Amino acid sequence: MFLIRLIILLAIIVILMWLLKRLFSADPDPEQLESGRSENMRQCRYCGVHVPESSVVSVNQEPYCCQEHADLDQH
Ligand SMILES: [Zn+2]
Repeated sequence: MFLIRLIILLAIIVILMWLLKRLFSADPDPEQLESGRSENMRQCRYCGVHVPESSVVSVNQEPYCCQEHADLDQH
């Protein structure tokens, strides 16, 4: 009886390890694709640097990487 329990325990450990391996190796890729797809890149009108849309500074509907470059381009 002890041997059967040991084998079942080992089987559970192997399955858990396999599941964890799958989780850790398969998860980052779809997430990276997801963030790459949802995050649009905009180009700063002043210096040409590419900035994710969420951190773009928009002045007169033009994208800038920071407020400083927006100000520099206006004057
Ligand atoms: Zn810039």
